[in-house]
Amino acid sequence: MASPKDLPRYYRALLKHYGPRHWWPAETPFEVMVGAILTQNTAWTNVEKAIHNLKAAGMLEPRPIAEADAATLARLIRPAGYFNVKARRLQDFVRWFVERWRGDVRIMRLVPPERMREELLDVKGIGPETADSILLYALEHPVFVVDAYTFRVLHRHGFVGEEATYDEMKEIFEGTVPRDAALFNDFHAQIVNVGKDFCRATPRCEKCPLRKFLPG
Ligand code: SF4
Repeated sequence: MASPKDLPRYYRALLKHYGPRHWWPAETPFEVMVGAILTQNTAWTNVEKAIHNLKAAGMLEPRPIAEADAATLARLIRPAGYFNVKARRLQDFVRWFVERWRGDVRIMRLVPPERMREELLDVKGIGPETADSILLYALEHPVFVVDAYTFRVLHRHGFVGEEATYDEMKEIFEGTVPRDAALFNDFHAQIVNVGKDFCRATPRCEKCPLRKFLPG
């Protein structure tokens, strides 16, 4: 039976099946951070439309978002859903980014990841998955991102119970997979792929690249 120590083998099986995922699709670290907030509770295709609208309006920059009229911002990000809530969250985050970090990702990168995680979690509307997505994909720290697909895979393979916490799952990866930002980056993206293609509400184990690890 597989154990969490086999997670590096899970990664190799996924990499063999899918190839490198090249996630996150963004032109700048700031765009990654915006996407990490907009993707809460929605599919990535909807986020792409919202990002496109921001770019087309010349608004995908810290100051324009920080100074935007809330209704205008909400209209532009409408495709991402919950647009009034997300407009507030995005603006709260970007104002914090501008005021505390001078709108400069390079300054944020100088802060140790543990401290930056606490700082991010103190920003209204930023939960653990969003904070870790920013730490990994925008700031390039070796921090593992857990999502609903990660829970499904870990749970269905017998590594965690129904009540597993976010931090418990994150620690499983960070304790068994070599701490490397590029590896964590691609592993998370691979899990998202296997979740979408195979580990759905009704799993499709027969054709899944991880079927050989299933508990017998
Ligand atoms: S679909 Fe089945 S084999 Fe694939 S990850 Fe989910 S539980 Fe495992």
